Amino acid sequence: MLDRYNKISSGKLDPYYLRAKARDEQKDRSNYKMAELWSELTEQRKDGVPSLELKRELADRMLENCIFCERRCGVNRKLGGSGACGVLESKISSVFLHMGEERELVPSHTVFFAGCNLNCVFCQNYDISHLNQGRKVPAEVLADRIQNGGGKNVNWVGGDPTPNIPYILEVLNLISVSLPQLWNSNMYISEEAMEILSGLMDVYLTDFKYWDEECAERLSKVRNYTSVVKRNHLHAEETGDLIIRHLVLPGHLDCCTKPLLEWIDSELKDPRVNIMSQYRPVWEADKYEIGRQLSSEERSEIRRLRRKYSHLGGMR
Ligand code: SF4
Repeated sequence: MLDRYNKISSGKLDPYYLRAKARDEQKDRSNYKMAELWSELTEQRKDGVPSLELKRELADRMLENCIFCERRCGVNRKLGGSGACGVLESKISSVFLHMGEERELVPSHTVFFAGCNLNCVFCQNYDISHLNQGRKVPAEVLADRIQNGGGKNVNWVGGDPTPNIPYILEVLNLISVSLPQLWNSNMYISEEAMEILSGLMDVYLTDFKYWDEECAERLSKVRNYTSVVKRNHLHAEETGDLIIRHLVLPGHLDCCTKPLLEWIDSELKDPRVNIMSQYRPVWEADKYEIGRQLSSEERSEIRRLRRKYSHLGGMR
């Protein structure tokens, strides 16, 4: 658990993004077709960490046919096309040193993006996620704050960071501090975007919400949630450390929490799991069965599950 993170923090290993930058060769790829860029990425992966420059070119082109997440809207965001997340240019809601993350991670230099690719009816940050409240921050300004901010890592979150991959890569290109990069996300990410993140992100700090696809469709308005998120966890653990957070929803212990934990325990190699019980009904939750607090029976069942899965290192 957190092997990679600990090695970077103790100066024994460089974060991926610095290795990706070291490989940059100032090559003009503006005439390359997308297929050529992907094939170069595949080739580079065979002998190490692919170049950041190449990934920036890929991410920039993906803005013209947006498939960063599995909604795969296909809109041209450079021309003002707005997909399900509503993100055109990246907007940031806040940048701060977060003291409330897992013990090893704090203080965590947290970048909170506006906008989200899910549409959860119980969103705890609905003003940021659904109302897209934030402001444009030039990449140079954010890079300067990260360089001089005093955090132990950089924590890319939102809303969700996924629609903001091109901007994040631009910032990474401008910084040079040896800090682990944390991908703090709902993980409803396309395979293409996962290829870009792989070999840039050191830790995946994931939010695994549901097991039942019907629950995901009803409460987050998204299809194939579980199959996509399972696939991406398997992909993430190939290259990065994995901290999985699961917020238990009222009435969803049997359909979601228990099978999800069983799958994590049997299929993933070395994750840390936090089973969270701080749910409170906000936004539109009271229109659904989750418009209540967890019951005392549910809380005691969560305590039992924490004991059962204590080998997964949960802390909450
Ligand atoms: S990131 Fe936004 S625009 Fe792009 S595919 Fe996802 S929801 Fe659609």
